[in-house]
Amino acid sequence: MRFFDAHCHLNNPSGDSFAADETLRLAKITERAAAAGVNRIVCCGTNPAEGKNVLHWSEQFPQIIPMVGLHPWFVTSHWQDDFQVLEEMVRRFPAVGIGETGLDFQKRFINRTEQEASLAAHLDLASELNRPVAIHVVQAWGRLIEILRRHPAPAVLFHAFSGPAALIPGLVKLNGWFSFCGSVTNPRAIRVRAAVTAVPADRLLIETDSPDFPPLGCPAPNEPANLIQVARAVATLRGVSLDEISERTWDNASEIFSRS
Ligand SMILES: [Zn+2]
Repeated sequence: MRFFDAHCHLNNPSGDSFAADETLRLAKITERAAAAGVNRIVCCGTNPAEGKNVLHWSEQFPQIIPMVGLHPWFVTSHWQDDFQVLEEMVRRFPAVGIGETGLDFQKRFINRTEQEASLAAHLDLASELNRPVAIHVVQAWGRLIEILRRHPAPAVLFHAFSGPAALIPGLVKLNGWFSFCGSVTNPRAIRVRAAVTAVPADRLLIETDSPDFPPLGCPAPNEPANLIQVARAVATLRGVSLDEISERTWDNASEIFSRS
């Protein structure tokens, strides 16, 4: 069986990403992933410095698919300067996706107007270049939907989806794909588990969101090799075989990332 981790982060906050021991750390992570059948790993940068690392790693490790963007947590009054650097990366490398971007209204100290402007800029770039875009959204579904209507993008990946199932049909019309992470393994995550069963099969994705959200029983930090636990939980909730989830989510992710 083969698995496609549709969203994660591989950065080591304490290390120099270009150092030899960093290459070794990533070699071990990708080896353990390959042993678990995880043969494609989408790695997201959340700011210009991380974006540079992600591009570097994707050149070293062919199974790593790079995405670069400005995460809403890192939006500041000079977000346009950061976006310009990221835009240059995206234009220079045709295999790069866009994100993660999005809206997080739980973080009250981050200006909402600037978050929205940054999101719109990412969406417009995705639309112009026909690239996939990864979205983080917390307590902002209403505004997100309004912005997506005004700034449609060709493939919008709602990562670690935790929205209400009732939103799914409308988000499908906005070219949405829905990616689920380790939270689906938690029996108390009732809303997430309801959403898993409501997503159309051709819009379903799985991810680890490493290093966060280890599946139940997996130690922190999370890593792509743990994706099989997410796949198992999704298969059980949808009442289908693990094999079917493996193939379906592989095909769906391949379709999205064939754009980049
Ligand atoms: Zn993320």
